[in-house]
Amino acid sequence: MLAIETSCDETSVAIVENGKIIRSNVISSQIETHQRYGGVVPEVASRKHVESITWMLEEAVQEAGISLQELSAIAVTEGPGLIGALLVGVVAGKALACALDLPLIGVHHIAGHIYANQLVHELEYPLISLVVSGGHTELILMEGPGQFRIIGRTRDDAAGEAYDKIARAMGLPYPGGPHVDRLAQEAESEIKLPRSWLEADSYDFSFSGLKSAVLNVVNQSKMRGEAVQVAQIAKGFQASVIDVLVEKASRAVREYGAKQLLLAGGVAANKGLRSRLAERCEQLNVPLLVPPLGLCTDNAAMIGAAAFLKWDKQEFDSMELKAEPQLKLEEW
Ligand code: ATP
Ligand code: MG
Ligand code: FE
Repeated sequence: MLAIETSCDETSVAIVENGKIIRSNVISSQIETHQRYGGVVPEVASRKHVESITWMLEEAVQEAGISLQELSAIAVTEGPGLIGALLVGVVAGKALACALDLPLIGVHHIAGHIYANQLVHELEYPLISLVVSGGHTELILMEGPGQFRIIGRTRDDAAGEAYDKIARAMGLPYPGGPHVDRLAQEAESEIKLPRSWLEADSYDFSFSGLKSAVLNVVNQSKMRGEAVQVAQIAKGFQASVIDVLVEKASRAVREYGAKQLLLAGGVAANKGLRSRLAERCEQLNVPLLVPPLGLCTDNAAMIGAAAFLKWDKQEFDSMELKAEPQLKLEEW
C-alpha cells in the first residue's frame, strides 16, 4: 500500500505492507519554514506540500525498491487537518489511484496516530488509547479494531498546543514541545502550577487555565524586570500536564478493564510522559504501548497502518473522496 499524509506541516509518503511492515517512510518537515512565524501558516503549508509531493512519491517508491505495478491500494489522510494541506494529499492520492486503477482508502489522521502502534506492537482489545497531539487530547475506548469511542476530550487547548503556546511565550522555538520536555528534565526545581481535574468522574481535559497560569508567571517576571525562570516553569508545567494525563488514563484502564494502554500523537514523544505512564502501567499490570519516537509525530507509515483496517473489510472510497477538515473519528 502507498500512503500519503499532508494534514498539517509534514509532507510524508510511505510504502507499508499488510499494515505492519514499513518498506519506506519519507518525511519532509516544514518546521524551518514556519519557525519564523512561531506557528504553522496554513497557506504556506499548502504551497510547500505542492512543491514536495511529486518527488516524495518517487523517493518513497524508489526507497521501497518496488514498482508502481506492485501496489495494491492508495491510502491518504482525508481529515482532520488544514483544508488546503489535506487537499494536496487527497488530489495526489486520487490521481495515483485513477492512473494505476487501484482502490483508494481515505484515512482519519488520528486513527493513523493510534495505529502507528500496530507497526511495532500486537494490539489486544479492549484497550484505552490516550491521544495527545498538536490538535487533540482524547481518551478513546476501543473494543475492537477500528472501533473508536471517545470517552474524554479536551474542552479547550490540546496538550501539544498548550506546550507550543507556553514555549512561545517563553521565547523558545516552534514547535515548543520538545524544548519544554528537555528543560523539564534538566531543571532541578519547579514552579508549582495548578492541575485541572474537572468533575470527579470526568475523563475530559482542560489546559487553558494552566496555560494562563504560566503566562501570568512569565508576565510578572517581565514586569519586575527579572529573568523568566524558563526551566523551572517548564518542569512545573510538564508535571501538571503529566499528573492529569496519567491519572485519567489509568482510571479509564481500570474502569473499562482494558488489556492495554496505548499512547499516540506527537506528545507521545515526551520523555516525562512515557516514563510516568510506564511506571503506572507496571503498577496496574497492564502493558503500555508507545510508538517509537520517529512514529509519534506525523508520518505516512501510520496512515498505511490504519488504512489496513479498511483494506481488511474491502471498504474503499470513490473518486468523490473529499478533504474533511473536521472529520469525526467515530464516523470514519
Ligand atoms: P493532530 O495530530 O492533532 O492533527 P499535529 O499533527 O499538528 O496535530 P502531531 O504531529 O501529532 O500534531 O504532534 C505535534 C505536537 O507534538 C506539537 O505540538 C509538538 O510540540 C508536540 N511534541 C513533539 N514532541 C514533544 C515532546 N517531546 N514533548 C511534548 N510535546 C511534543
Ligand atoms: Mg507537524
Ligand atoms: Fe498529527
